[in-house]
Amino acid sequence: MHHFAYHNNELYCEDVPVRTIAEKVGTPFYLYSHATLKRHFMVFDAAFEGVQRLVCFSAKANTSQAVLKLFASLGGGLDIVSGGELFRGLKAGFPAQRMVYSGVGKRIDEIDDALEAGILMFNIESIEELELIDERAGLLKKRAPVALRVNPDVDPKTHPYISTGLKKNKFGVETRTAIEGYKIASKLKNIEVIGIDCHIGSQITESQPFKDALESLLAIIKEIKKFGIEVKYLDMGGGVGITYADESPPHPNEYAKSIVESLGDMPLEMILEPGRVIVGNAGILVTKVLYRKSGKTKEFVIVDAGMNDLMRPALYESYHRIEPVIKNDDGSIVADVVGPICESSDFLALDRKIASVKKGDLLAVMSAGAYGFTMSSNYCSRPKAAEVMVKDDQFDVIRTRQSYADLIDGESIPSFI
Ligand SMILES: *Cc1c(COP(=O)(O)O)cnc(C)c1O
Repeated sequence: MHHFAYHNNELYCEDVPVRTIAEKVGTPFYLYSHATLKRHFMVFDAAFEGVQRLVCFSAKANTSQAVLKLFASLGGGLDIVSGGELFRGLKAGFPAQRMVYSGVGKRIDEIDDALEAGILMFNIESIEELELIDERAGLLKKRAPVALRVNPDVDPKTHPYISTGLKKNKFGVETRTAIEGYKIASKLKNIEVIGIDCHIGSQITESQPFKDALESLLAIIKEIKKFGIEVKYLDMGGGVGITYADESPPHPNEYAKSIVESLGDMPLEMILEPGRVIVGNAGILVTKVLYRKSGKTKEFVIVDAGMNDLMRPALYESYHRIEPVIKNDDGSIVADVVGPICESSDFLALDRKIASVKKGDLLAVMSAGAYGFTMSSNYCSRPKAAEVMVKDDQFDVIRTRQSYADLIDGESIPSFI
């Protein structure tokens, strides 16, 4: 059951016409399907049936309070990468004991907040970080539960900007350093070694890179056991890809199977950190055509959503399908779909065959639920878009569109001007 579908040539989200929402909240806006969010989470979780596990949704893919609250209520955990995400996660109702904290640049105040909250695990990305966390835990009279994030040097075969597990990437520590790190960690007074972790990249469309990464982790687990160090949690990170155009990523069942097979009967609890695969295809961005114009060699469709609203095309040259909200019989055109921002990278699609649209028509930018709103900015003093969630035949604005007043909130003019 697809929850973004056409009925009588009109795009619906569940039982609500997208046009109805656009008329109510204006454009651009992000639109999420409650049923899809829920189903994707449950399917992913169920894929690991029979294995001790905690599915920690990766907050940075979509930090909306409503979305987080939903996953918290389904028993999920949260993968955080900043103090801000810790704050958001707690506010949305995740118990700290279901949060894991990754990131190469954790600041002292962020570490302290996570220690005070009592998170499940710090995924440590350097020996200096390990030593700092030990020191902070000592000061706060806590024991810090940690995993080392291993960089297994596997090629996830994804866009270079979203590969994270290659030697040249800044993330984690290489195998040799990890083994050293575990020896150091096991001697630190305020550190409790409980896990091992990796996250090799994003939008990965085959299972093999995950298997390769897992083999590396299992080898390390074996090696450190010789020194009497045991881990309870195996955190495989996130990274499972989705279909934007014609990719065929592994189904969560296939992904889970490939991992669980390699685990054999090792008594480990799995932690998974899926982001994109849960929310990516549960959301769209709805925008309105402002103008059409023809250049010498190009046809342009100018819309009211820009790279500040959806940065992925500008950042990674990502592909998002673009569909008309109301289908017409006017055939198709090949055009660049561009935003209002003063940058040539401000496009949603290039040389794309799309329905022939005219001024005022609504377009749906598909697969925008992950790294969409969370990456949005106020560039060109554009207020951030509204976010809406649909459940059955009702919809709710889960974040109001920013106002112009919001744009200068917190600014002040010094007395010397
Ligand atoms: C971004 C991130 C994820 C989620 O990645 P997806 O590709 O969205 O599944 C998981 N873990 C860590 C550490 C991350 O940085």
